[in-house]
Amino acid sequence: MAAISFRNVIKRYGKGAKANQVIHGVSAEIETGEFVVIVGPSGCGKSTLLRMVAGLEEISAGEISIGDRVVNDIEPAQRDIAMVFQNYALYPHMRVFDNMAYGLKIAGLPRDEIKKRVDNAARILELGHLLDRKPRELSGGQRQRVAMGRAIVRQPLVFLFDEPLSNLDAKLRAQTRLEIQKLHRELGITSLFVTHDQVEAMTLAQRIIVMNAGVMDQFGTPEEVYLRPATTFVASFMGSPPMNLLRHAPGVRPGAVLGIRPEHLSFSDDGWLVRIEQIEMLGAERLIHARIGDEQLVMRADEGVAVPELGSSVRVAARQDRLHWFDAGSGKRLSDA
Ligand code: ADP
Repeated sequence: MAAISFRNVIKRYGKGAKANQVIHGVSAEIETGEFVVIVGPSGCGKSTLLRMVAGLEEISAGEISIGDRVVNDIEPAQRDIAMVFQNYALYPHMRVFDNMAYGLKIAGLPRDEIKKRVDNAARILELGHLLDRKPRELSGGQRQRVAMGRAIVRQPLVFLFDEPLSNLDAKLRAQTRLEIQKLHRELGITSLFVTHDQVEAMTLAQRIIVMNAGVMDQFGTPEEVYLRPATTFVASFMGSPPMNLLRHAPGVRPGAVLGIRPEHLSFSDDGWLVRIEQIEMLGAERLIHARIGDEQLVMRADEGVAVPELGSSVRVAARQDRLHWFDAGSGKRLSDA
């Protein structure tokens, strides 16, 4: 039994003629203890999926289970989940300890059990020395950790994260990402994490659900999603800069799209003739923007590689064992080549 199952889940907002379907039949089995990230651009339906698991949105058709229970008709409070939001909304007048303990007090747990759980969460999150402070005396990252502590103490079956890192600056985001990973290793609680950030998805997930306009384009490990994208959408969404998708370059079959990652292109005596249009220096590497016929190409070059001058025409070859072919109509992957 999977920890979370989506079975042909459909969501419509509104009723009757005005109904707007935004989730078009998602099926996925999330294993017990797994950390799964739902990723996709704004509006693709990530939060809606998560909110249906939480019980904050009705499920229009299909089924969602948590553990061995179908939860379609079960109240949010009875679903044995804990949610961490982007907006962590701590109680400003309460100490960190009481912020974490509050839900347990309401639930009527004995005082010593509450203390045990809060102390344990504080140890895991390294908040032990901050338990007597008020939220205003904490940094943004520390507040986000208290919000996570509040979820941990409930010892839920499932953690749901809704873009919890979006309010943090880049450095703190990277650091908190590591903390969430550590937390998951330590607690092993099934987690569903929503983000629009593909780097966050790649670094956190054991498996990734890539959503495209209400459809699940792919559900796979970060390696699978990056190395064998199921669609042109996944190919261009996962990875920065995105995979090059060529339709007209010499050698591209009619009706197919050829995908090549920027790191799989190199200067070579035999290959496509391209014109160098722009060079971006990123430190360890450079991104070289080139034109081939009416199409753009981006390639990555390590700092050691000699880069031709802007405006010059050179030849570029693709690694033949790293070519991706997609159907030009449906965008679906055609082969493993
Ligand atoms: P994401 O989290 O990927 O940004 P959402 O799940 O929030 O996307 O939204 C998916 C789609 O559903 C969007 O087109 C959005 O406009 C629509 N939507 C979200 N919430 C509502 C709502 N309460 N009523 C009507 N439409 C909504």
